[in-house]
Amino acid sequence: MKKLNGTVIVTYRCNGHCTMCSRYKEPSRPEEELTLETIRKLPAMYFTNITGGEPFLREDLHEIVRELYKKSDRIVISTNGFFTERIIELCKEFPQLGIRISIEGLEETNNAIRGLDDGFRRGYETLNTLKEMGMKDIGFGMTVQDRNASDLLPLYRLSDELGMEFATASLHNSFYFVETNNIIHDRPMVAQNLERLVNELLHSNSPKKWFRAYFNHGLISYIYGQKRLLPCDMSFDTFFIDPYGDVMPCNGTREKLVMGNLNSQSWDELWNSEQAECIRREVRNCSRNCWMIGSVSPAMHKYIWIPAWWVLKHKFLSFGKPYSMEEIPAVSAHRRGLISKDALDLLSTCERNREGSNNE
Ligand code: SF4
Ligand code: SF4
Repeated sequence: MKKLNGTVIVTYRCNGHCTMCSRYKEPSRPEEELTLETIRKLPAMYFTNITGGEPFLREDLHEIVRELYKKSDRIVISTNGFFTERIIELCKEFPQLGIRISIEGLEETNNAIRGLDDGFRRGYETLNTLKEMGMKDIGFGMTVQDRNASDLLPLYRLSDELGMEFATASLHNSFYFVETNNIIHDRPMVAQNLERLVNELLHSNSPKKWFRAYFNHGLISYIYGQKRLLPCDMSFDTFFIDPYGDVMPCNGTREKLVMGNLNSQSWDELWNSEQAECIRREVRNCSRNCWMIGSVSPAMHKYIWIPAWWVLKHKFLSFGKPYSMEEIPAVSAHRRGLISKDALDLLSTCERNREGSNNE
């Protein structure tokens, strides 16, 4: 069987109290969370993302990672970086691990968004220590929104100086975040900061950064409520599993969609079931147009010629002309006064996904 891309949500417990995610209000109980027995049933994967909640709240994370390395080529853990000692301990055992620490802006902004007084200092200290340890696959992750958009470039530059990866996201509304009250209010301001980032990334000499530029171009398009730039094939060669053993296509749907439960089924039984097929049909008709790395990264690999052509055009065929977000139709229409802010708000994927089903 072909290797898959899997996201393993090891817990819904979290020590963070973020403004854009209320997961901490509906934590899982330790006794109902994924066991090693269930994790052993997962299929072979070319990539595994371990996430939460806050994964480092699991005391058996060492064992989970050890089991996952038996079936996965690459593992990246997403964390808020607060539990420095636990992260360092794990990385000593698995130096090949990837670690992405969410930092939501410079110190004051980060701590206000995250709801952790000492969050920035601890996250930053963790990253620095990992770097000193010689860890290669480390970086920041930031969810760009009104409150932190002006910190986007300073944070990117900081990550660049440190030689670290810099991943971005924007606000989404789905069951995963528990409450669906995420809105971007000043769309042009947030998008302009992303536009600057796209240009900095395109100016670099790193092909990886050029493709990140494409991802951020997609984020602007998402913020303006446009159709997703790439098809979404979640549940075909990609899956999420939650702390209760439920296998899902993704974390972007309004209600949780379940393909089967790995606590009670074998992987083959679940993956080839009628229920899984039914979910795949739902995915084919899904119009939520979300743009989160979990669903975009596999699509960028699968439909590589689409981002590759965009990169070629903007890096090599632009003859010095900077990238402008006006190439997105809704952006230029808004700038020319053809679409009002109110109309744009109605168009916004973020707004629309607060209510309704997956296909509205
Ligand atoms: S975004 Fe992450 S750190 Fe913040 S509450 Fe949600 S799971 Fe916790
Ligand atoms: S577009 Fe639909 S199927 Fe794809 S990740 Fe978003 S909610 Fe899931």
